[in-house]
Amino acid sequence: MQQDVNILVVEDDQKTAGLLESTLQSAGYHVWMAADPNEGLELLRSNIFPVAITELRSLKMGATQFTREANKISPGTYVIVVTLYSLINSAIEAMEAGAYGYITKPLNTSEIRIVVERAVERFFLLSTREDKEYFVDLAVRDGLTGLFNRRYFNELIKIEFNRIKRTPSFLSLLMLDIDNFKNYNDTQGHQAGDILLKDAAKVFKNSVRTIDIVCRYGGEEFVVILPYTDKKGAQVIAERLRMQTGLYLPTTVSIGVSTTPEDADEITQLIEKADNALYQAKKSGKNKWCVA
Ligand code: GH3
Ligand code: MG
Ligand code: MG
Repeated sequence: MQQDVNILVVEDDQKTAGLLESTLQSAGYHVWMAADPNEGLELLRSNIFPVAITELRSLKMGATQFTREANKISPGTYVIVVTLYSLINSAIEAMEAGAYGYITKPLNTSEIRIVVERAVERFFLLSTREDKEYFVDLAVRDGLTGLFNRRYFNELIKIEFNRIKRTPSFLSLLMLDIDNFKNYNDTQGHQAGDILLKDAAKVFKNSVRTIDIVCRYGGEEFVVILPYTDKKGAQVIAERLRMQTGLYLPTTVSIGVSTTPEDADEITQLIEKADNALYQAKKSGKNKWCVA
């Protein structure tokens, strides 16, 4: 299926270019290489690319400018920037200019594959193609809500966590659990319960940034990964999620918040802390958020 998916790589460093090309080719994509940014933009004009990858440094045109130009030519294309950890601020600048995501150097092949796969999936999910279901990979998605599933969450949190650990920044986690959902199922029916879960997924996704990752953790439990977000920021988002739920859904939600590095220096601990905070929110009355 992925032979039909074009990926553009704009990279003038031969070593990086070679690694990106071989990794993406072995993942089954049709990879187009350009060493020059203008050549890359030319290719964008004449082909459909769900994803374009570009390096931040050493190009005549920086990644931020490339992102702007690429968005003008092909607004549907997701631009991913390759960056050194030390240049993470430039990556954020490129994201502000419309880039979808970034990959850090030294390159890690599974990180490349996961970041690209997410962007490709998003491209097809949001495209108007009638056969878009064809592209949805149920190995990483929850079939009911379309969110990433718990297994994939475990992969994503590793990547985000390790990335944050190498930079002086924060990552927060929100654990959400719909309040009194069993009662909703019992009174409205299981099908109505399913619809509520689907709607909840939409409300949650619409309440966060594109770099935040919303997953279905279990039955009526969700988890949101918030990269580069400190505890104060996470509380703002938790409150927004709580409010939006109350506004748009026939239910309420309780939320637990935890943040690395202050609450945890390993992933299991971060999840446990968010879970405990969620338990506090439930115990102290529901429809609220608590911090670790
Ligand atoms: P609390 O406010 O303490 O969270 O209570 P609750 O009723 O929300 O939680 P509880 O864990 O008692 O019940 C969760 C219910 O969610 C029970 C289960 O049948 C239901 N559930 C789990 N997955 C699904 C699903 O995919 N669809 C539907 N309709 N219901 C589901
Ligand atoms: Mg529950
Ligand atoms: Mg519940």
